[in-house]
Amino acid sequence: MARLSSHFTEEEARCRCGCGRMVVNDILVRLLEAMRAAAGHRPVVVHSWNRCEQYNKKIGGKPDSQHLYGKAADVSIKGVGVAQLAKFAESSGADGIGTYPKQGFVHVDVRGYPARWEE
Ligand SMILES: [Zn+2]
Ligand SMILES: [Zn+2]
Repeated sequence: MARLSSHFTEEEARCRCGCGRMVVNDILVRLLEAMRAAAGHRPVVVHSWNRCEQYNKKIGGKPDSQHLYGKAADVSIKGVGVAQLAKFAESSGADGIGTYPKQGFVHVDVRGYPARWEE
């Protein structure tokens, strides 16, 4: 199990369709580590990270999704609500932050400019 950092693996970063796509963005990896630390070093559950175009379409991702470039991850932390998690994302320096209360995760990305939304 190859590691990208102390707490994240290649397995977690790979596209979930089985295509093997995995672009590693170091800024995003550092952001995820910072969020983990902000939450009291609790494990970050990765719902979605890299996506190929086909898989992104299949799950209804935005056509220009940052997931296509390996710059976004949808994550949750057990015992931490999405609003609180969004705050951790904020203090950890995420560019894009999308909260998905119904699905129970927060989208974070490192697109290079701020973006905020809630679904
Ligand atoms: Zn794929
Ligand atoms: Zn996302």
